[in-house]
Amino acid sequence: MYIVLLGAPGAGKGTQAELLREKLAIPSVSSGDLFRSAIEAGTELGVKAKEYIDRGELVPDGVTIAMVAERLAQPDCTEGVILDGFPRTVAQAEALDGVLAEMNRRVHAVLYIKVSEDVLLKRLAGRWTCRDCGAIYHEVFGPEKTRGVCDACGGALYQREDDTPETQQRRIAVYLDRTAPLQECYRAKGILIEIDGDQDVDVVHRSVMAAIDSLEGNDTL
Ligand code: ADP
Ligand code: AMP
Repeated sequence: MYIVLLGAPGAGKGTQAELLREKLAIPSVSSGDLFRSAIEAGTELGVKAKEYIDRGELVPDGVTIAMVAERLAQPDCTEGVILDGFPRTVAQAEALDGVLAEMNRRVHAVLYIKVSEDVLLKRLAGRWTCRDCGAIYHEVFGPEKTRGVCDACGGALYQREDDTPETQQRRIAVYLDRTAPLQECYRAKGILIEIDGDQDVDVVHRSVMAAIDSLEGNDTL
């Protein structure tokens, strides 16, 4: 099953992707994580992407599409994928359809995690991420057990450089301008499912699973 998680920065896509990955046993592919790995590795792509990420802008479609297409071509992606943060533009959505069509696959559902702007800002401001395994915490809504230490792997937690107040505002504005139009595109295709993301993590996860279960009863998968 190929599932897209759509939502503004801080909506909880990464958090829900991880829970879904465990439940569905298919990989989750986060374009943001792929960029951060490239930055960490100091590759040419990483250097180029960092300029955009630090400003809260989208990385250009060409390099983003090529990077995700390369990831989707890997053998673990043949049975399904949870896409987190991709597509973010209409061009990326079209490219995704093309890549999946070549694999004889398609997007089965787009789960739009809807969260109000004041909640997004609170979530982004308190987000901490594990440098080693990428686990996501929140200093108020979901803190780690030992301060600064990842519960899952013992790695050190850090706050993302693009989670500054100025960049947060810019990323939300970019989302509204470039990514929000995808809601209508996918709604028109009949594959958009709206999830109330303003709830606790567990409640959102249950809504996500209910949406997936409703798809599994559908024999067009
Ligand atoms: P995204 O991937 O959409 O940018 P994240 O999954 O990284 O969002 O979540 C942003 C922050 O909000 C993290 O600190 C995470 O722990 C927290 N968070 C995610 N979902 C919820 C929720 N339902 N309630 C409260 N906090 C949440
Ligand atoms: P995320 O981890 O999803 O919050 O993404 C962090 C940053 O990476 C974004 O603010 C963008 O600069 C960049 N990025 C991630 N995914 C994409 C994408 N699909 N298209 C363009 N830029 C992206």
